[in-house]
Amino acid sequence: MKFSGQILKMISDHTKPIRYYLNLSEDLICMNQLFNQELSFQHIGYQCVSCGNDEPVYRMGFCKKCFFKSPYASDTILRPELSTAHLGIEERDLAVEKEIQLVPHIVYLAYTGEVKVGVTRESQIPTRWIDQGATLALPIARTRNRYEAGVIEVEIKKHITDKTQWKKMLQTQEKDIDIISIRDSIKSYLPKDYEQFYSSDEEVWKMEFPYEVPMNIEAFSLNKKSEFTGILKGIKGQYLCFEGGQVINIRGHEGYVINLSVS
Ligand SMILES: [Zn+2]
Repeated sequence: MKFSGQILKMISDHTKPIRYYLNLSEDLICMNQLFNQELSFQHIGYQCVSCGNDEPVYRMGFCKKCFFKSPYASDTILRPELSTAHLGIEERDLAVEKEIQLVPHIVYLAYTGEVKVGVTRESQIPTRWIDQGATLALPIARTRNRYEAGVIEVEIKKHITDKTQWKKMLQTQEKDIDIISIRDSIKSYLPKDYEQFYSSDEEVWKMEFPYEVPMNIEAFSLNKKSEFTGILKGIKGQYLCFEGGQVINIRGHEGYVINLSVS
C-alpha cells in the first residue's frame, strides 16, 4: 500500500485502546491496523498548513511568514493569559480570536510522566489529553473564556509544571496517581476572584494507549534524515513507536509532505 500527502496531527477515537488515524491530506489511515507491519517514510516537500506553499515549516506546520501572521499561530495559543478578545482588542484577526477565545475553557491536571497543569477549550476534551499522551486527566476549573483559564493557569504553574517532557511521557504508563488529592490541595492557589470557577466534582478521565514502553527510546525527525523505515509497534500521544524504540512525533511534522509505503 502506498500513500502520499501532507501530514496533519493524528486524529483519535477515545476507545479502549485509543484508535489513531494518520491524516495525510485528509486521507485517514487507521494506524492500529498497521501494528507489526513495516512502514517506510520519505520526506518529499512541504505544504504550509495556512498558505499551502512549499516553504520549509518554521513552527507548528506554518511557514515562517504565516507563523508570524496567522491568528492560529498567535502567542495566546501557548500563553492563554495574553488573550484580549474578551476586551474586544484585536491581536491579528479579532473575528478568529473571538471564535477561539470566547468559548468555555477548562483548566486541567494531566499525568504525562508527571502531573502537569494545562488549559484547553472544552470542545477539545479528551482530544487534547490523547494528543499529550496523558494516561489520566482531571478538569479543575471551568471558565467562560480563554483569558480567565489563562490567569488561573499562571497561578497554578508556580507550583506544578505546565510542560510535557516527551521522553518522560513515553517512559511511563502509570495510572495509579492520586490526582484528586492534588486537585484538592491546589484550590488555595487560585486567585480570590477566580474561586468561582473551581470545579470539585469532576471525574478522572483515563486514557488507554496502544503502547508498551520500549527498552530504549530514541527520537528521529524527517528533517534530519529524509527517509525512515521501521516496524510499527505502538502509539502514544502523537508519537509513533517503532521496533527498537525509535519514535517520531507526528504533530512535530505537520506541514511535511511525505510518501508512506506499508509492506
Ligand atoms: Zn504559509
